[in-house]
Order: sequence, then structure tokens, then C-alpha cells
Amino acid sequence: MSAQDEPMFMVMADAQGQIFDHPELLMLCRHGRQWGRPRPDEMIPLPKESELFLLPGRYAVGLDSHGETQVTEHLAVAAFLAPAHTLSAHPCYVQADNAPMLPLFAYGAVGFARGRFYVCAKKVDNDPRQQFSQIPRKRIEQKAALLKKRYAANRLVQHILNNCVARYDCPAARNFALGRFEAPLPSSRTCNARCLGCISKQDEDSPIAVTPQCRLAFIPKAQEIAEVMQIHASREVERPIYSFGQGCEGDPLQNAQLLEQSIALFRQNGGAGTVNINTNGSRPEVLPALAKAGLTSIRISINSAREELYTAYYRPNGYHFSDVLESVRLARSLGLFVSLNLLFFPGVSDTEEELAALSELVGENGVSMIQLRNLNIDPAWYLNYLEQGPGLPATSGMGLATFMKRLKRLCPWLRFGYFNPWLGERAELSAPLPGTWQTPEKDQSKLQH
Ligand code: SF4
Repeated sequence: MSAQDEPMFMVMADAQGQIFDHPELLMLCRHGRQWGRPRPDEMIPLPKESELFLLPGRYAVGLDSHGETQVTEHLAVAAFLAPAHTLSAHPCYVQADNAPMLPLFAYGAVGFARGRFYVCAKKVDNDPRQQFSQIPRKRIEQKAALLKKRYAANRLVQHILNNCVARYDCPAARNFALGRFEAPLPSSRTCNARCLGCISKQDEDSPIAVTPQCRLAFIPKAQEIAEVMQIHASREVERPIYSFGQGCEGDPLQNAQLLEQSIALFRQNGGAGTVNINTNGSRPEVLPALAKAGLTSIRISINSAREELYTAYYRPNGYHFSDVLESVRLARSLGLFVSLNLLFFPGVSDTEEELAALSELVGENGVSMIQLRNLNIDPAWYLNYLEQGPGLPATSGMGLATFMKRLKRLCPWLRFGYFNPWLGERAELSAPLPGTWQTPEKDQSKLQH
């Protein structure tokens, strides 16, 4: 019998924080406003390096043998997934009036069957780059200490190792210390957006009190950034990736000239590998110079391909959604590999409205990849926020797996994943050039006329 056929029991926690499964009540999960049993194809065993959370002020809800929902007096439990996994449903619970807002994590629906936990999610990337369970902490610390001593004058090296590794435990920074995969290049202190779920800065009156990573306190020089890239290139010799745009900074395009100088310096000295920018994509006008300097790829974050939802979440200051679209288009025309960092929220991102808008955005503008990241936010709070603002999509979520299948059918070149891929210095692109896309439907209508 597979996990899909057997009864999946509700998971809950007592006041002492002990987590256990309910002997009778079945698990329920939430896709947007819809509550129900998990879909047959959406349960996977809880991945290694995931964590279970107790949800304060929220009471677990399950399904009894008569098909009735039952609210328990036990706390609801959720899973925060290991990287490379995307949530397909949130947990069901009833919230007390005085329940505190949940901090900025993604909350996955958990169930229990045959002696193990399961979660509503999908593994979307096989890259092991953020797996650390086999690496002793001591080894990371020793390697970090050596680098700190050797590059004592480089403030960016010191920032990455003292703050990002030691204080925030950032996976990208730990990889830099280890000399593997993708190195982070934080460079910007400011941003022209005010994302609801920004982890590096919140408004003073924001209900989201937690700021997990503080923005870096200085702007590095181009030489310091290029040196970080060179250090990484000398240690990760096979598939090095260098990425601007990290959790401890604002948006890197705010300092486009600095980026251009750093990339040019690195490339002029024979620097090899994939240079990438993670950004909100708000400044298309700076992209030609960056491409000329040697940028390989750009990852643009969106929570939605529809302007109203995008604007409600990003709260842009001095740019518009049309600038983001222009960045995608221009980047593809300049020969850059364009990924979308889709902040996926089950029951909103996978609706018909979103699929139509996203396929249009991908196809018309030449997106090569979608990185399916989880939107880290209190799920009930976000749904209420959208409802009171632009409104929730009218259709229900189709499920993550179906959403991916249908998007791939419309845009067959599209790659899915979770991490920035290694692409060499310059990517081979199969995404259509802007304005040349023909959907299968369009082809069909052509044949009929
Ligand atoms: S674009 Fe990035 S840095 Fe800017 S507000 Fe949003 S999450 Fe924060």
C-alpha cells in the first residue's frame, strides 16, 4: 500500500510541545481558502533537514469517520521544508483571537502514517547544494576562520563569515566558507520595494516584527567583491556560481555601476563561471551594461504574474510591474538566462488566473526557468490581506503538480528548479525571443484558419 492509499492521520502538539498523531482524526490541509483531504499525488515523506513547528494560538483540525471536521484542543503543527522542496498545501487550524502573527517562514501541512511524517510538497530540484547534514559544523567554522585570517582586509569576506555564517547560518555563506557551489555577493543597503515578507527590513509599523537578517552595514568596493569571486573560483573549480542579491541586503540593481565594475574586474582577470543577479528586476535600463561586463543570468522575484497581486505584495516605490516585464524581455534579448523566482503560495499561485498570466509572461518575454520557492508568510494573514486588497483569485488551486504540468505543456522549453543553475559563462538559450512565442492553442487556431 502506498502513502497515497493509506489513512493519513492528523498531527498536533500538546502544551509541553510534544508532537504526536491523532489516533482517529484524519489530516486536513488547505489550498487557499479551501479545506480538504490532501490530493493523492501531493504527500511525500518529510524530507531530511526539515523542521516541525508548533503554531501558537492555533488549534489543530482533523476529519472524523463521519466526514465532519473536528477542532481539537491541541496545537496545530506545520513543517518548514528543507531547501529544494516546494509546499503544495498549508495546514488547517482554527485561530484564537489573540494568536500572534507567525514569523516569516513557510508552513507546510503535515500528516502521519505508518510510523513516519508526511508533508504536502514536491521536490523540485535534485541539486544537493543546500544539504549540510553530512558536514560537521566544526569544519565550516575552521574553513571560515582560515578565510577570515587570510583576507582580513576584505570587509565583504568578513561580513559573509562573521554575520552570514556565524549569526544567520545562511546556506549560501556556508557554501562560500566550504568553497563549493554558489557564493553570495551582498552589495546593496537599499531597496525600492517594501515586500510584505522582506527578511532584511520591515516598516516600523509592520505587524511582522521579526527581521531575521539585518542589511549589511557598508557598501563594498568593486575590488572587494571581485576578490570574493576570485576566492570562490579558486576553490570551486568545476561549477562556480556567484550571486548578487542575498537575504542580508536590499536590491542589488540599486548599485548597478558597482556590480558592473565588479563583474568586469573579475572577467578581465579571467574569472570563469556563472555570474548571477537575484533581483526585483525594477531597473531594466541598467541591464545592457551588466550583460556587457559578463553577467550570465538574472533571477527576478515575483509572487504573481498579475500586476494587482504583485503590487500588493512588493509595494514598489518608484517602479511598476511593467518595468519588471521589461527587464525579463530585455535580459532575454541580451542573451541572459532568465529565471523567475516564483514565491509560490498554494491555492493562489496555482489558480487558472495565475497560470494564464504566468504562461503569458514566460512565453511572451522569454523566461528560461522557474524557481519554485515558498512564500514565507503567515498563510491566514496573507489570505486576509489579499482579500481586503486586490482580492483572491476566483478559481481554486489546481495543485502544484498539475500547475507545473500545464505550464510545461504551454512552454515546453521551461525548466523548473529551486536553485540558480550553473550555466558556464554564457548560457545556451532555448526560450523564445520576446514576441515570437506561439502557444499550442495559437498554433491550433492558425491551422484552422
Ligand atoms: S525586493 Fe528584496 S530587499 Fe527589496 S523589499 Fe523585497 S525582499 Fe526586501
